[in-house]
Amino acid sequence: MNYSVSRRAAALSPSLTLAIDAKAKQMKAEGQDVVGFGAGEPDFDTPQHIKDAAAAALAAGFTKYTPSSGIPELRQAIVDKFKRDSGLTYKPSQVIVSCGGKHSCYNVILATCQEGDEVIIPSPYWLSYPEMVKLAAATPVIVPTSDKTEFKVTPEQLRAAITPKTKLFILNSPSNPTGSLYNREELKALGDICVEKGVLIMSDEIYDKLVYDGAEHASVATFSQAHFEHTIIVHGLAKAYSMTGWRLGYLAAPDPIAKAIDAVQSHSTSNPTSFAQKGGVAALNGPQDHLKSWLAEYSKRRGYAHQRLNSIPGISCVNAKGAFYLFPNISKLGLKSIDFCAKLLEEEKVAAVPGVAFGADEYIRLSYATSLQNIEKGLDRLEKFAKRIAG
Ligand SMILES: *Cc1c(COP(=O)(O)O)cnc(C)c1O
Repeated sequence: MNYSVSRRAAALSPSLTLAIDAKAKQMKAEGQDVVGFGAGEPDFDTPQHIKDAAAAALAAGFTKYTPSSGIPELRQAIVDKFKRDSGLTYKPSQVIVSCGGKHSCYNVILATCQEGDEVIIPSPYWLSYPEMVKLAAATPVIVPTSDKTEFKVTPEQLRAAITPKTKLFILNSPSNPTGSLYNREELKALGDICVEKGVLIMSDEIYDKLVYDGAEHASVATFSQAHFEHTIIVHGLAKAYSMTGWRLGYLAAPDPIAKAIDAVQSHSTSNPTSFAQKGGVAALNGPQDHLKSWLAEYSKRRGYAHQRLNSIPGISCVNAKGAFYLFPNISKLGLKSIDFCAKLLEEEKVAAVPGVAFGADEYIRLSYATSLQNIEKGLDRLEKFAKRIAG
């Protein structure tokens, strides 16, 4: 038997973070006191009224196939959300509900990109984007940024990266892994270039509700009709409602692209889970008060962690404006990010994600979706570690 896998599958990078994550889990299972900064999900529970809506749907027998692109009620709730939060006017037919924001991203890339196409991805990037582009047989073009520009790509950099082959520009604000947020002027400048050059924008806005210090999330689709027509927004319920395990995401796209994505999804996963969609309706249409206390808590943790990190010799950290990550620069300590994280776990029992996984080896990612008490303990240990390796 020939077990050779497809070129497409073989081209994927194995997850660099998985080995460290597996080790951290194993150490925890053995009863070791590991402090985890690796979480890519909120540490809060899904609000009760959302669970109740899904449970009621399940009890009522809402357990069959739904339309592939989602139930009309949820698509309408998403249309209303875009209107309410961003002033954008979509038709329900332009909205596709998928099995997570990740699935929405994949659908967009698969439906728009092919062999010969280039996709511009600023680094540090969410680690799945380049792999998804490779799965679509297109070519990721990485544009590096650093803490000097708060991890934001400049209009000059974007312009220089565009070629006649450029199909898509991937924007993620607020960002995973850096927590950086583009302001309106910066976003408009990038959007203007895409409009001028005829490049589609995939705007991943999944962290839109998680912004701090009075900062405002803006969508690149809002600046003009042309910006709107060049943008596909990907979004999901996971981060703002702590619904990571529910697998519910969505996107809004110009008609021809929505139609193509509908076809792709109808032949791959079909509909997202029926009763989870009812929970999604409750999330988007119901009270949003949980966010206030979550934001207050995240903000407190972020403030503490940011200050502590900058007080450690050899480490510097720009403050995040959104999401729930900090991305400190550890390059002065002289270790590659993967060695840094492996040693940190082994010697101090602290789990963090090496920046190289996000295309940025001088950094590590720390998630503050964990208790302040854990953060204090973890940063005490990180400080001890940093002082030791600095000699
Ligand atoms: C979490 C996340 C998503 C989507 O996650 P799902 O669990 O698939 O909804 C998409 N983009 C970014 C940048 C994320 O961090």
